[in-house]
Amino acid sequence: MTDPADLAARVREGELRLYELDDHADPETAAAARRHLVASETDANLEAVGDYTFAAADAEANVENLVGAAQVPMGVAGPVPVDGSAADGEYYLPLATTEGALVASVNRGLSAIRAAGGATARVTDSGMTRAPVFRVRGVAQAQQVAEWVREHTADLREAAESTTSHGELLDVDPYVVGDSVFLRFVYDTKDAMGMNMATIATREAADIVESETPADLVALSGNLCTDKKPAAINAVEGRGRTVSADVVLPREYVEETLKTTPEAMVEGNTRKNLVGSAKAASLGFNAHAANTVAAVFLATGQDAAQVVEGANAITTMEVRKRERDGDDETDAGGDLYASVSLASLEVGTVGGGTKLPTQSAALDVLGLAGGGDPPGANADALAEVIAVGALAGELSLVAAFTSRHLASAHAELGR
Ligand code: NAP
Repeated sequence: MTDPADLAARVREGELRLYELDDHADPETAAAARRHLVASETDANLEAVGDYTFAAADAEANVENLVGAAQVPMGVAGPVPVDGSAADGEYYLPLATTEGALVASVNRGLSAIRAAGGATARVTDSGMTRAPVFRVRGVAQAQQVAEWVREHTADLREAAESTTSHGELLDVDPYVVGDSVFLRFVYDTKDAMGMNMATIATREAADIVESETPADLVALSGNLCTDKKPAAINAVEGRGRTVSADVVLPREYVEETLKTTPEAMVEGNTRKNLVGSAKAASLGFNAHAANTVAAVFLATGQDAAQVVEGANAITTMEVRKRERDGDDETDAGGDLYASVSLASLEVGTVGGGTKLPTQSAALDVLGLAGGGDPPGANADALAEVIAVGALAGELSLVAAFTSRHLASAHAELGR
């Protein structure tokens, strides 16, 4: 077997580059050689980084210049009953995080939801987007290209769908800015998050646009997609799954589990999540939906950079009069209705990082690893469970600051 130290020496002497090590050794040895080199050049101890459990060869599609693994602690919250369009039953949520108090916070919210019988969740729209930008001579030609695209969507669909057995082209929306034409392709990517699938399919369709119109492709992604950047288009039009969850919490559970009142929750949500976010011109009208999104993303092998889009969420709360046997029990003071709506949650249960061992185990905890039946059902269910987790996090945090024990929870759990 090749000695990692010898390989590292060859890199140091300029005979090999870091990425060429895989051509001269098996993937584990190449990773060990890189650790050897980086450790000797930086004085860092990479023993823990090298203590990983997957086969290096299995991560080849996920990372280049492998040295090992970054480990993130994982906890579980729940179980919580979810009544979804795809999710159905009780779920434990796997949450990977280094933020003390996060799992406890989500768990407290889920306890309140569970006491109320569970949450309802629905995926209301679904579509992964890729928007190439084309150069034309001016606005007259831009209008001709947009018109051609509207009349030939079926041809573009045939080309795009020739590259995938699962993906379906739903729509192509043209946008014109002077002599630039953007075509926002929208795909049903089933159980895949779909960014590679959509990119490959769009490449094929873009070839036809170039050959049949005067448009010249400048970039396959023209940033109107919009991937991994804050953008109002995702908050308004949606990207990936558009998903909402809601619950009615009986007043007594708000008082007993969340230690506050529905009225205080509603005021806190209005002043912070709605008025404060409006004043800040934020795209996220929520308390910390990104916390739950990020923790489930890390646990289940989603693309972590897409937490940007996952933060496009609106939380609403209101006091609901209780109706029992047709009688309004207004004297009881009313219950708490709460909802969270995530406009652009990009999730998959196949592809990307979902196959790696701990990530696929976390999907197994949810019963959602791999392709769904029908295709798309597992990714829909994952989106619905994440929405319920985000709702739990919102309930817990809003309750915490309305009952003023946020700082003490962090001090106790995070330090
Ligand atoms: P992928 O791993 O590239 O592709 C998913 C594959 O799963 C497809 O080839 C599909 O085959 C297959 N598949 C099997 N069962 C399926 C089912 N039930 N539903 C859907 N597909 C099924 O994953 P991806 O989701 O398209 O892309 C995710 C990756 O893209 C991540 O690694 C992410 O980091 C990366 N990414 C890429 C870009 C980019 O611009 N290229 C941008 C951001 C992120 P068929 O297509 O043959 O049906």
